[in-house]
Amino acid sequence: MRLIKSPAQMQKLALDLRRKDTEIGFVPTMGFLHKGHLRLIERARRLVGNNGVVVVSVFVNPTQFAPTEDYSTYPRDLARDARLCREAGVDIMFVPTAAQMYPRTGRKEFSTYVVEEKLSRPMEGLSRPTHFRGVTTVVAKLFNLVLPNVAVFGAKDWQQAMIVKRMVADLNFPVRIVVAPTVREPDGLAMSSRNQYLSQDERRQATILWRAICRAREVVRSASKPVPADLLRQELTELISAQPAARVDYIEFFESDTLDPLNQVEPGTHLAMAVRIGRTRLIDNARL
Ligand code: AMP
Repeated sequence: MRLIKSPAQMQKLALDLRRKDTEIGFVPTMGFLHKGHLRLIERARRLVGNNGVVVVSVFVNPTQFAPTEDYSTYPRDLARDARLCREAGVDIMFVPTAAQMYPRTGRKEFSTYVVEEKLSRPMEGLSRPTHFRGVTTVVAKLFNLVLPNVAVFGAKDWQQAMIVKRMVADLNFPVRIVVAPTVREPDGLAMSSRNQYLSQDERRQATILWRAICRAREVVRSASKPVPADLLRQELTELISAQPAARVDYIEFFESDTLDPLNQVEPGTHLAMAVRIGRTRLIDNARL
């Protein structure tokens, strides 16, 4: 496995590979890798085959964090990530620094952002107003440096995956976006680098997100007609709030691809939620 730190070097290597018609499969991450990331890497390998090249980026992207958020405390362990990538058969690990990606001084001072203006507004967009601007900007930059034929994103961050797809379509990026299923712990908690922040007691309470998804599925699948969204939101809020450390940020019902909100919930409707467990903000989603 090659570890590349310089964006210029990454782009040069990618150009060389594309000139030789080598397929590039790409998995962008913020590191502190877990089984969810590893599943995306396996998927990328299957997509490009053994003659292709799998690139994983590890970059905690400052522009997608608000000043009040956890940029400085976000878990980082590059040595462990490198070992996991090597074991997973990754060919290239791309690990740029924030100063290289976003020069702050001199003639190269950074001042261009990519903004998706519709799908970015609800849910995470309301709670984290500048978050998706940071995501689309860094993904666009990474696509220009890694030049992937295909990039794999997780369904865990459903809104993000839909926004990236829209950006790729709107701006004609020559890359295919594949969305891979959410990987969960045995008790249903979606794997996340942020689960690391939870105390033992909070970790137990955190299963309430998955239990709420299961409850919502049960309700819509056993109902003989669509269920009013407000009613189901109310029931799930009560269920989640019964956990002493849990505070609901949002619970939304919407059409999977367009993210258009739905007033009536039925099988196939998408549910997404953000819940604070103590000081840790967790998100999860599923099709019901
Ligand atoms: P992150 O490092 O959290 O920014 O995530 C990098 C990529 O991994 C994103 O496409 C995420 O959606 C995806 N991902 C994170 N957690 C999971 C999970 N539990 N299952 C599947 N994909 C995930």
